[in-house]
Amino acid sequence: LDAHQAGKAAGLFSLDLDAHYQRRFSLLGDIGPALESADELYLLFQPRVSLATGECLGAEALLRWQHPTLGEVSPNEFIPLIENTPMVKPLTQWVLHHVVQQAAAWHRAGKTLQISVNVSATNLEEEDFALRLLDLMARMGLPSTAIEVELTESAMISQGEVATTQLKALIAAGLRVAIDDFGTGYSSLAYLHEIPAHTVKIDRSFITELGEDARTETLVNSMISMAHDLGYRVVAEGIENDTSYRRLMELGCDEAQGYFIAKPLLPTAFETWLQNRAI
Ligand code: C2E
Ligand code: MG
Ligand code: MG
Ligand code: MG
Repeated sequence: LDAHQAGKAAGLFSLDLDAHYQRRFSLLGDIGPALESADELYLLFQPRVSLATGECLGAEALLRWQHPTLGEVSPNEFIPLIENTPMVKPLTQWVLHHVVQQAAAWHRAGKTLQISVNVSATNLEEEDFALRLLDLMARMGLPSTAIEVELTESAMISQGEVATTQLKALIAAGLRVAIDDFGTGYSSLAYLHEIPAHTVKIDRSFITELGEDARTETLVNSMISMAHDLGYRVVAEGIENDTSYRRLMELGCDEAQGYFIAKPLLPTAFETWLQNRAI
């Protein structure tokens, strides 16, 4: 590498770095306006079905951001950025408001569905988190059992006292709590019995390898039995084919979610999917 080439490489590198920070900076600055805009943020709903009966029991609400200049931005990119800023509070408030509103509309239409909503660890640090969610549900006439709160394993482990109080208040009111991305944290099974929750959602990374890797299958089998023995319901996420669907059925997993069943859908598409499935 001569001096000229090295200089060029360094320049390119810093350009890339600049672009990276520029993008993060934009996303952080633009989330506020997105919350005010009528059409940048929206929710998709991915069905969750019973492996025993095939019946649709509910759906997970997944946030989408159609950014005015950057296009569709994945929640895997913008949620971790915002989670560490005060904007996480109004963002989650936006999500909860829209989820409860949609769930209440389906409830009025006579559909018995349990809608899961993802919540950040930092949200549980808010002293009034449970109170605000319960108030929102009461105002919209939604029974407490119609909402399930999803938190990642690491989020639950790192919790302080405020967070535990919030979770317990939600559970006391009748909401369900799920441990998301189970198996990816450090804690895993050892801490499971200490977490106030009803459901364990086995992470997609394990489900993808079902039927391909015997060791993964052993692991999934133990996760399901252990979770059941501790009284949890088990959901498998990221089911992409018939093989893993059948295998999970045989292993006694309770519920399934994944592209094999349905992709995350707009509310109207979800309703159509539900209707076609019932016939
Ligand atoms: P998650 O909560 O674990 O959600 C499941 C993710 O897996 C979703 O990605 C979903 O679209 C995807 N998925 C479902 N089935 C399949 C499958 O069969 N194959 C594959 N390859 N993927 C599948 P998505 O929607 O991109 O969301 C990513 C993550 O962003 C979520 O992971 C969650 O941690 C976070 N997130 C999404 N919406 C919200 C929100 O409203 N609030 C918060 N705090 N986090 C959210
Ligand atoms: Mg989730
Ligand atoms: Mg997950
Ligand atoms: Mg995740």
